[in-house]
Amino acid sequence: MCGIVGYIGKKKSLPILIDGLKKLEYRGYDSAGVAYFENGDIKITKSVGRINHLENKLDNSINTNIGIGHTRWATHGEVNEVNSHPHHNGDIVIVHNGMIENYLEIKEFLISKGYSFYGDTDTEIACAYIDYEYKNSNNKNIIEILNKCSSKFIGSYAIVVMIKDISNKLFVMKKDSPLVIARGNNENFIASDILAFADKS
Ligand code: GLU
Repeated sequence: MCGIVGYIGKKKSLPILIDGLKKLEYRGYDSAGVAYFENGDIKITKSVGRINHLENKLDNSINTNIGIGHTRWATHGEVNEVNSHPHHNGDIVIVHNGMIENYLEIKEFLISKGYSFYGDTDTEIACAYIDYEYKNSNNKNIIEILNKCSSKFIGSYAIVVMIKDISNKLFVMKKDSPLVIARGNNENFIASDILAFADKS
Protein backbone atom coordinates (compact mmCIF):
# COMPACT_ATOMS: atom_id res chain seq x y z
CA MET A 1 0.00 0.00 0.00
CA CYS A 2 1.61 3.24 -1.08
CA GLY A 3 0.67 6.83 -1.65
CA ILE A 4 -2.29 8.86 -2.83
CA VAL A 5 -2.58 12.62 -3.20
CA GLY A 6 -5.30 14.82 -4.63
CA TYR A 7 -5.69 18.56 -5.08
CA ILE A 8 -8.55 20.82 -6.07
CA GLY A 9 -8.24 24.58 -5.81
CA LYS A 10 -6.98 27.66 -7.60
CA LYS A 11 -3.27 26.86 -7.82
CA LYS A 12 -1.47 24.82 -10.45
CA SER A 13 -2.08 21.29 -9.22
CA LEU A 14 0.80 19.35 -10.78
CA PRO A 15 3.66 20.82 -8.68
CA ILE A 16 1.49 20.35 -5.56
CA LEU A 17 0.78 16.72 -6.44
CA ILE A 18 4.44 15.96 -7.21
CA ASP A 19 5.54 17.63 -3.97
CA GLY A 20 2.94 15.60 -2.03
CA LEU A 21 4.07 12.35 -3.65
CA LYS A 22 7.69 13.13 -2.78
CA LYS A 23 6.70 13.54 0.86
CA LEU A 24 5.29 10.00 0.72
CA GLU A 25 8.42 8.52 -0.85
CA TYR A 26 9.52 7.12 2.52
CA ARG A 27 6.79 4.47 2.14
CA GLY A 28 8.59 2.92 -0.84
CA TYR A 29 7.08 2.48 -4.31
CA ASP A 30 7.82 1.05 -7.73
CA SER A 31 6.07 3.51 -10.05
CA ALA A 32 4.16 6.77 -9.98
CA GLY A 33 1.51 8.63 -11.94
CA VAL A 34 -0.83 11.60 -12.10
CA ALA A 35 -4.16 12.42 -13.73
CA TYR A 36 -5.56 15.92 -14.23
CA PHE A 37 -8.30 17.75 -16.03
CA GLU A 38 -7.20 19.75 -19.05
CA ASN A 39 -9.52 21.28 -21.66
CA GLY A 40 -12.46 19.16 -20.55
CA ASP A 41 -10.55 15.90 -20.73
CA ILE A 42 -8.65 13.77 -18.23
CA LYS A 43 -4.95 13.39 -19.04
CA ILE A 44 -2.79 10.67 -17.48
CA THR A 45 1.00 10.49 -17.19
CA LYS A 46 2.80 7.53 -15.56
CA SER A 47 6.32 6.33 -15.08
CA VAL A 48 8.13 3.34 -13.61
CA GLY A 49 10.73 4.15 -10.96
CA ARG A 50 11.44 7.41 -9.19
CA ILE A 51 9.03 10.33 -8.99
CA ASN A 52 11.70 12.38 -10.75
CA HIS A 53 11.08 10.30 -13.88
CA LEU A 54 7.40 11.22 -13.74
CA GLU A 55 8.25 14.86 -13.10
CA ASN A 56 10.52 14.94 -16.15
CA LYS A 57 7.67 13.72 -18.33
CA LEU A 58 5.34 16.51 -17.24
CA ASP A 59 5.17 19.79 -19.08
CA ASN A 60 5.57 22.65 -16.58
CA SER A 61 3.27 24.87 -18.58
CA ILE A 62 0.24 22.60 -18.01
CA ASN A 63 -2.29 24.79 -16.29
CA THR A 64 -4.63 22.53 -14.36
CA ASN A 65 -5.93 23.08 -10.86
CA ILE A 66 -7.48 19.71 -10.16
CA GLY A 67 -5.74 16.36 -10.17
CA ILE A 68 -4.69 13.16 -8.42
CA GLY A 69 -1.36 11.40 -7.93
CA HIS A 70 -0.23 7.92 -6.90
CA THR A 71 2.83 5.94 -5.94
CA ARG A 72 2.33 2.20 -6.43
CA TRP A 73 3.58 -0.79 -4.53
CA ALA A 74 2.41 -3.58 -6.84
CA THR A 75 0.26 -6.30 -5.31
CA HIS A 76 -1.51 -7.52 -8.47
CA GLY A 77 0.26 -7.43 -11.81
CA GLU A 78 3.90 -6.83 -12.50
CA VAL A 79 5.69 -3.53 -12.17
CA ASN A 80 5.35 -1.73 -15.48
CA GLU A 81 3.89 1.47 -16.85
CA VAL A 82 0.65 -0.16 -18.01
CA ASN A 83 -0.14 -1.49 -14.53
CA SER A 84 0.84 1.70 -12.74
CA HIS A 85 -1.86 4.13 -11.65
CA PRO A 86 -3.98 6.14 -12.46
CA HIS A 87 -6.19 3.60 -14.26
CA HIS A 88 -8.95 4.46 -16.70
CA ASN A 89 -12.02 2.90 -18.25
CA GLY A 90 -14.85 4.69 -20.04
CA ASP A 91 -15.70 7.86 -18.13
CA ILE A 92 -13.71 6.96 -15.00
CA VAL A 93 -10.12 7.45 -13.84
CA ILE A 94 -8.93 6.25 -10.42
CA VAL A 95 -5.96 5.80 -8.13
CA HIS A 96 -6.11 3.07 -5.49
CA ASN A 97 -4.19 1.91 -2.45
CA GLY A 98 -4.90 -1.58 -1.16
CA MET A 99 -6.32 -4.73 -2.74
CA ILE A 100 -9.63 -5.75 -4.28
CA GLU A 101 -9.67 -9.43 -3.36
CA ASN A 102 -12.61 -10.46 -5.54
CA TYR A 103 -11.34 -8.69 -8.66
CA LEU A 104 -11.27 -11.85 -10.82
CA GLU A 105 -14.95 -12.50 -10.20
CA ILE A 106 -15.75 -8.84 -11.01
CA LYS A 107 -13.55 -9.06 -14.11
CA GLU A 108 -15.52 -12.05 -15.43
CA PHE A 109 -18.76 -10.19 -14.84
CA LEU A 110 -17.47 -7.12 -16.67
CA ILE A 111 -16.20 -9.18 -19.61
CA SER A 112 -19.71 -10.63 -19.92
CA LYS A 113 -20.93 -7.01 -20.17
CA GLY A 114 -18.50 -6.23 -22.98
CA TYR A 115 -15.63 -4.63 -21.05
CA SER A 116 -12.02 -5.29 -22.06
CA PHE A 117 -8.79 -4.68 -20.16
CA TYR A 118 -5.24 -3.55 -20.91
CA GLY A 119 -3.31 -4.73 -17.82
CA ASP A 120 -3.31 -7.09 -14.84
CA THR A 121 -4.18 -5.04 -11.78
CA ASP A 122 -7.10 -5.36 -9.40
CA THR A 123 -7.33 -1.56 -9.64
CA GLU A 124 -8.13 -1.57 -13.34
CA ILE A 125 -11.06 -3.89 -12.61
CA ALA A 126 -12.31 -1.62 -9.82
CA CYS A 127 -12.13 1.32 -12.23
CA ALA A 128 -14.14 -0.52 -14.89
CA TYR A 129 -16.71 -1.57 -12.31
CA ILE A 130 -17.22 2.04 -11.21
CA ASP A 131 -17.68 2.91 -14.89
CA TYR A 132 -20.23 0.10 -15.23
CA GLU A 133 -22.26 1.37 -12.27
CA TYR A 134 -21.93 4.96 -13.52
CA LYS A 135 -23.17 4.06 -17.02
CA ASN A 136 -26.06 2.05 -15.58
CA SER A 137 -27.22 4.69 -13.16
CA ASN A 138 -30.23 6.70 -14.28
CA ASN A 139 -29.88 9.59 -11.87
CA LYS A 140 -26.03 9.66 -11.84
CA ASN A 141 -26.01 10.11 -8.08
CA ILE A 142 -22.30 9.56 -7.49
CA ILE A 143 -22.60 8.78 -3.78
CA GLU A 144 -25.18 6.09 -4.55
CA ILE A 145 -22.97 4.70 -7.33
CA LEU A 146 -19.88 4.54 -5.11
CA ASN A 147 -21.92 2.94 -2.31
CA LYS A 148 -22.96 0.22 -4.76
CA CYS A 149 -19.29 -0.30 -5.67
CA SER A 150 -18.38 -0.47 -1.97
CA SER A 151 -20.80 -3.26 -1.41
CA LYS A 152 -19.32 -5.12 -4.41
CA PHE A 153 -15.61 -4.69 -3.54
CA ILE A 154 -14.12 -7.12 -1.03
CA GLY A 155 -10.78 -6.08 0.39
CA SER A 156 -9.09 -2.92 1.52
CA TYR A 157 -9.03 0.25 -0.45
CA ALA A 158 -8.59 3.97 -0.55
CA ILE A 159 -9.74 5.19 -3.95
CA VAL A 160 -9.93 8.64 -5.52
CA VAL A 161 -12.23 8.89 -8.52
CA MET A 162 -12.31 11.38 -11.39
CA ILE A 163 -15.29 11.42 -13.73
CA LYS A 164 -14.90 12.83 -17.25
CA ASP A 165 -18.13 14.81 -17.23
CA ILE A 166 -17.55 16.29 -13.76
CA SER A 167 -14.43 18.36 -14.15
CA ASN A 168 -14.75 20.34 -10.90
CA LYS A 169 -14.89 17.48 -8.38
CA LEU A 170 -12.91 14.58 -6.98
CA PHE A 171 -14.67 11.68 -5.24
CA VAL A 172 -13.28 9.32 -2.62
CA MET A 173 -14.19 5.96 -1.17
CA LYS A 174 -12.35 3.96 1.47
CA LYS A 175 -12.37 0.81 3.57
CA ASP A 176 -9.55 -0.27 5.90
CA SER A 177 -6.98 1.92 4.09
CA PRO A 178 -6.06 5.41 5.27
CA LEU A 179 -7.27 8.48 3.40
CA VAL A 180 -7.63 12.01 4.74
CA ILE A 181 -9.27 15.13 3.34
CA ALA A 182 -7.98 18.55 4.34
CA ARG A 183 -10.03 21.65 3.68
CA GLY A 184 -8.20 24.91 3.05
CA ASN A 185 -9.13 28.37 1.81
CA ASN A 186 -10.57 27.83 -1.65
CA GLU A 187 -8.63 24.59 -1.94
CA ASN A 188 -8.93 21.03 -0.68
CA PHE A 189 -6.37 18.25 -0.38
CA ILE A 190 -6.64 14.49 -0.28
CA ALA A 191 -3.87 12.19 0.90
CA SER A 192 -3.24 8.69 2.19
CA ASP A 193 -1.02 10.23 4.87
CA ILE A 194 -1.27 13.76 6.30
CA LEU A 195 2.49 14.11 5.86
CA ALA A 196 1.86 14.78 2.16
CA PHE A 197 0.33 18.15 3.00
CA ALA A 198 1.63 18.78 6.51
CA ASP A 199 3.34 22.01 5.40
CA LYS A 200 0.17 23.53 3.95
CA SER A 201 -1.62 26.04 6.16
N1 GLU B 1 -3.38 -3.42 -5.69
C1 GLU B 1 -3.02 -2.28 -6.48
C2 GLU B 1 -1.96 -2.60 -7.50
O1 GLU B 1 -1.33 -3.63 -7.45
C3 GLU B 1 -2.62 -1.09 -5.60
C4 GLU B 1 -1.28 -1.26 -4.90
C5 GLU B 1 -0.93 -0.06 -3.99
O2 GLU B 1 -1.54 0.08 -2.94
O3 GLU B 1 -0.01 0.69 -4.37
O4 GLU B 1 -1.76 -1.81 -8.39
